[in-house]
Amino acid sequence: TKFTDLKLDPAVLRAIADAGYETPTPIQAGAIPPALEGRDVLGIAQTGTGKTASFTLPMVTMLSSGRARARMPRSLVLCPTRELAAQVAENFDTYAKYTRLTKALLIGGVSFGEQDKLIDRGVDVLIATPGRLLDHFERGKLLLTGVQIMVVDEADRMLDMGFIPDIERIFQLTPFTRQTLFFSATMAPEIERITNTFLHAPARIEV
Ligand code: AMP
Repeated sequence: TKFTDLKLDPAVLRAIADAGYETPTPIQAGAIPPALEGRDVLGIAQTGTGKTASFTLPMVTMLSSGRARARMPRSLVLCPTRELAAQVAENFDTYAKYTRLTKALLIGGVSFGEQDKLIDRGVDVLIATPGRLLDHFERGKLLLTGVQIMVVDEADRMLDMGFIPDIERIFQLTPFTRQTLFFSATMAPEIERITNTFLHAPARIEV
């Protein structure tokens, strides 16, 4: 497979070419086609396999034809740690640089002020840790009813850190019709249970 066979947005292909990527990694070749068809994806992959691009590239492609609305993000990426969320945000900037898509990084340890301003103005993508996202929601600053695509990254680490109840709550706050792209390095029984509950006939890709 080549990136140009994958039906990605031309703006995404340009960004990939700038990054110097030549061929998709196995998780990318496996996850991107079903994601672009609108299917849920269950990706079983470790860090370093290119999994960030495997959800970000289709997400950017699918969002490229719409507009951000105040307080109603169209996409949500949940990460277990601040550091990982910041890395995903950097990747997003790289892959979305030829689009007009906007993002906000919602992580703890910084004041709410700047994050509130971005949410109020309207962003396409929220990249967040679960606790901070729920803080914003509970302050009444954020609606999740416009979420079309939800990504859960490193679910096994979410489990280790006790975030599964938060993840379930966030799933319940988003529309049933959302598309979910769910990634975990391993499939513990608790992870299997969450995916059985909230994913709809996912394409399962294991690398
Ligand atoms: P990740 O597993 O998402 O943390 O990605 C690991 C590293 O691989 C990152 O530094 C990416 O920039 C890089 N990368 C991702 N996809 C590709 C690709 N198709 N070709 C070359 N490098 C890639």
